[in-house]
Amino acid sequence: MSDNQVLDEIKTRLDLAETIGKEVTLKRAGSTLKGLCPFHTEKTPSFVVFPHSNTWHCFGCGEGGDIFSFVMKRENLSFSEALHLLARQAGVELRKPDEADIAAAQEREQLLALLSTAATTYHQWLIDGERGGAARNYLERRKISPATVEQFQLGYAPPQWDGLLKTLTSRGIQPAALEKVGLVIARENGGYYDRFRHRLLFPIRDPQGKVIGFGGRALDDETQPKYLNSPQTPLFDKGRVLFGLDVAREAIRKADNVIIVEGYMDVLTAHQHGFQNVIASMGTALTREQFRTLKRLTRSLVFALDADQAGSTATQRGLERAREALDQKTVPVITSRGLVRQEHEVDADIHVLVLPEGMDPDDLIKQRPAQWQQLVQSALPVVDYLFSRAIRDFDPQSAKAKSHLTEELLPVIADILDPVQRVHYLQKLAQLVRVDERVLDQQLARTRRHRAGTAPATDEEEQVQASMAFGLEEYCLFLLLVRPALFETVEQYGLTDSDFQRVENREIFIALKNRGPEAISLHDNPLDEEAFIESLDSIVANHLRNVIRAYESQPPIPTENLQSEVEVAAQSLRLRNENKELSEITLILRTVSEEKAPSEKENALWTRIVELHRSIRSREQDLYSRTYAGHVERYRQSA
Ligand SMILES: [Zn+2]
Repeated sequence: MSDNQVLDEIKTRLDLAETIGKEVTLKRAGSTLKGLCPFHTEKTPSFVVFPHSNTWHCFGCGEGGDIFSFVMKRENLSFSEALHLLARQAGVELRKPDEADIAAAQEREQLLALLSTAATTYHQWLIDGERGGAARNYLERRKISPATVEQFQLGYAPPQWDGLLKTLTSRGIQPAALEKVGLVIARENGGYYDRFRHRLLFPIRDPQGKVIGFGGRALDDETQPKYLNSPQTPLFDKGRVLFGLDVAREAIRKADNVIIVEGYMDVLTAHQHGFQNVIASMGTALTREQFRTLKRLTRSLVFALDADQAGSTATQRGLERAREALDQKTVPVITSRGLVRQEHEVDADIHVLVLPEGMDPDDLIKQRPAQWQQLVQSALPVVDYLFSRAIRDFDPQSAKAKSHLTEELLPVIADILDPVQRVHYLQKLAQLVRVDERVLDQQLARTRRHRAGTAPATDEEEQVQASMAFGLEEYCLFLLLVRPALFETVEQYGLTDSDFQRVENREIFIALKNRGPEAISLHDNPLDEEAFIESLDSIVANHLRNVIRAYESQPPIPTENLQSEVEVAAQSLRLRNENKELSEITLILRTVSEEKAPSEKENALWTRIVELHRSIRSREQDLYSRTYAGHVERYRQSA
């Protein structure tokens, strides 16, 4: 059982109401249970247990949490002590401090070192000796300079079946380890052979520049496939990596713009000619993870598509996916049931650059760099691009073509965040299909409502939302780890340990807070960081290690953004929890009889509802004003 499952298992096996019931006399009130708060003195009950969410909250003194926080507070125990006590009661066995995790981290380091050795070896084979001749000739023909070969540490795999295998095993590396990183393949009858043979190799790196896999190009026309990549390994996940991101990172941030091409050679040529914000996807469509990674550097993306690719439906789907995946901004919406739901809207700037017929970026940059630059600058906004694509073969006389065009473009328009732009495109569509704008507007409203989530979310969507909600707490902690001075900011936003739902996060927050805002940055001081982690309970420590690892595998957060990032995280956490409190109070008041005059307690709850509404609105406004659309709106109002 993983640490996470241990905590869940304890929560499932122990009934919260029963555990609390041993200390507090609880009475059923609707779907909740009520009693006199054990943490402050009172005569009428304001202590409430919510069995459906396995949480408790006192509306008198404000304490609350889950079974762990109840036991810790009631018995005055540390998290470790409470964990052991509850595990014993639940009959759940606790894992010994984590040798398995330490071993996994060590293995990862070893595999990375091995890949780095392989990259150096391949590189040597390319630059010296006779064997790299064919690959060097190829690079020369493609006009790749020696400096670029060095910068990207290009390599060459010789034609032998055991070139790399022999060389590396003779240095004491186990063939099984080579197989694990995808460099050799096991034979059915025992033994291994090299995956890459007589190929030019492009090392593929994570954003920190560590080699995690290779792309190999065949050096003669007979060899198939032309491009061969590393297989999926514990380190290499095609759906996550972006080729060239490690070298393009700073340029992307500075230009606040990224250009996405398809091939390794396109990236090499672009960088060689000084276009340094260019990277390649590892396939035709970018994945959500790849968008998430890019979004941390810029919100402005340009896709370079070749002329025939630009027409394909796969590309169109890819672009639609891009718009979906970038949609980070969420607008809280009050629904008919009074619940608050996050409505997703696109908050990014996506442009499309269509290359001249028969050319890829590599050719164009080499032959006409000025035209490349001009195409980048005049790339069409994705909506204009999709419009121009859709109307290319449009027949305005055909009713079927009209409804087809509407079906295709209306969802695109529905996603536009800026209302002025939305109206603009709606008018454009209305003119094209010669339909009254109001009719389309009604249809658009239906589309937008549908998007807002009247339809049940798919599993994937739900998972994404869950992991986003989950990530917010961890993200906030990571920022505090990087810069303890940010504690002053989170306190201004009213954030306390009880804002963290996950018990491990609560513990980390308290431990970080105890160090004080003047403490040194743990993240910049690895030894102190390790000592800090060691001082935590092992379950909490493992969780923190995972959090740190997750953020380290991402591009670092620019220093100048730390402040605003923590403000958004703190604000969003408070917003989430105030919404939760609001629905809890609503639940409680639902059980109150309407005949009697409201008690003092009930009046206090009504006052709290008003307070919460006010606070939620101002937090939402603050978050909205930080989005791209919010900036535009403010600018427009002030102009
Ligand atoms: Zn209380």
